[in-house]
Amino acid sequence: MGYKFLKLASTSIRPVSVRIGVRSYATSHDADLVVIGAGPGGYVAAIKAAQLGMKVVSVEKEPTLGGTCLNVGCIPSKALLHNTHLYHQAQHDFKRRGIEVGSVQMNFKTLMEYKEASVKALTGGIAMLFQKNKVKLVKGVGTIVAPNKVEVKGASGVETVNTKNILIATGSEVTPFPGVPVDQKNIVDSTGALSLPQIPKKMLVIGAGVIGLELGSVYQRLGAEVTAIEFLGTIGGVGIDLEVANTLQKILAKQGMKFKLGTKVLGIKKEGETVKVEVEAAKGGNKETLDCDVVLISIGRRPYTRELGLDKVGIALDDRGRVPVNEKFQTKVPGIYAIGDCIHGPMLAHKAEDEGIVCVEGIKGMPVHFNYDAIPSVIYTTPEVGWVGKSEEDLKKEGKAYKVGKFPFLANSRAKTNGEPDGFVKVLSDKATDVILGTHIIGPGGGELINEAVLAQEYGAAAEDVARVCHAHPTCAEALREANLAAYCGKPINF
Ligand code: FAD
Ligand code: NAD
Repeated sequence: MGYKFLKLASTSIRPVSVRIGVRSYATSHDADLVVIGAGPGGYVAAIKAAQLGMKVVSVEKEPTLGGTCLNVGCIPSKALLHNTHLYHQAQHDFKRRGIEVGSVQMNFKTLMEYKEASVKALTGGIAMLFQKNKVKLVKGVGTIVAPNKVEVKGASGVETVNTKNILIATGSEVTPFPGVPVDQKNIVDSTGALSLPQIPKKMLVIGAGVIGLELGSVYQRLGAEVTAIEFLGTIGGVGIDLEVANTLQKILAKQGMKFKLGTKVLGIKKEGETVKVEVEAAKGGNKETLDCDVVLISIGRRPYTRELGLDKVGIALDDRGRVPVNEKFQTKVPGIYAIGDCIHGPMLAHKAEDEGIVCVEGIKGMPVHFNYDAIPSVIYTTPEVGWVGKSEEDLKKEGKAYKVGKFPFLANSRAKTNGEPDGFVKVLSDKATDVILGTHIIGPGGGELINEAVLAQEYGAAAEDVARVCHAHPTCAEALREANLAAYCGKPINF
């Protein structure tokens, strides 16, 4: 597809715009699909659409591709989590295994450089994938000016793309704490916490959800005194099984993280290099002021749809700022679709990616099926937590009769041998049919292991199905099999 700068096309093609300084595609349908936002939802959708034969334009306002996930989310956080875990092991775990390394130092600058290199490699990889799949990238802020027209304001002017379809994949942003300005130095959000100039001495984390626990773990392992303040009575955010949440809290507390649950933050104030956080019990009580040198605000994320011009095409957001879509990801305007963090459902990269794929398949006339009961969640602490489907609390609320099959990693030969016996697998299955309703793992490799449970759940497996599948020995996955055995017949072999 030609990229035309102020060019009037051949006589059969009507030019769209000839304003000076305005670049324009000259035909009325230069793209089959414009994807606004190149995060995991948008970039995957763009590639899939191109593979299905569509002419695709991807619009991204940031200098690098990959959105929140690659730039300031999943990838940098996992680089820090993995390397601080190794550091923690070298300091506290190697000796008992016979590995003597003397004194272990953390070079914080190198740790951060490693993280940045990981991000750079992966964001650059998407640019290459775009080239390979012939996805045209237009850099700038995309605005929908008409149902079939996107205007992109970039560094070198405004560009207009006429298109048959538009896919909104503009993601989310940090939810601010009302009235508290983030300076990304002493008062930081997740983006600031991923790039602190030094290790804080005392860190307060507001919100013990996924970000608070993951980034809190990073700095706790690096030597900071970390306290997580959480409004609710439990940690881990939405969807986590209560038994798993309580076990995780005990394990993290043993590692040194402190928790103030059921606690309301009343105010956050900076005084020089100290931050003062005023709190009280959520149900009321005495006020208390806590000091720290860094406070991390991690109280959730909210959809990002500013600059899209949705009002111009008559799309109203729902009460939580999300773009309303039907089960085919169609908005109320024909030809305009939305996926990822800016619509309903959990804000997860793999959910955004998968929605992107089925959405563009739908545009091509293929069937659209998305099973929200089979989206895994993982918290990348040590040990990792992974779950899919319903929690016990969900099932109780629904009044569903269920069976529980549990197996502790303490009784799993591989976990025991590796010296990682903390945690368990819990399988919840339908009491009448044995069909798996949910799987919850806290333990070694929980974030990898959960994918087997997702496969089972997606294909509607019964606990007996998984229990009868041959699993390699010795592996931690055998704990998943045993938990299914326990759910199916009440009796695991090794416990
Ligand atoms: P985003 O990734 O937010 O991408 C949206 C893109 O659209 C951005 O690049 C933005 O610049 C662009 N954009 C917005 N408006 C416009 C416009 N008008 N014009 C042009 N471009 C525009 N999820 C996981 O599954 N696993 C994890 O381990 C994980 N870790 C995380 C850690 C942190 C610290 C954070 C903050 C998030 C994490 N997440 C994780 C969540 C994950 O990052 C998001 O769910 C995911 O990025 C959502 O993908 P998306 O494509 O919908 O949106
Ligand atoms: P979250 O929803 O996971 O947790 C926010 C926590 O803050 C909740 O427990 C909530 O009760 C608490 N909270 C809210 N307001 C509060 C207040 N005023 N005082 C005290 N506590 C308060 O949100 P997050 O941790 O910010 O993460 C945002 C999103 O990013 C999540 O939806 C998550 O799915 C995604 N994410 C995923 C991963 C992963 O998959 N491993 C990692 C990081 C982020």
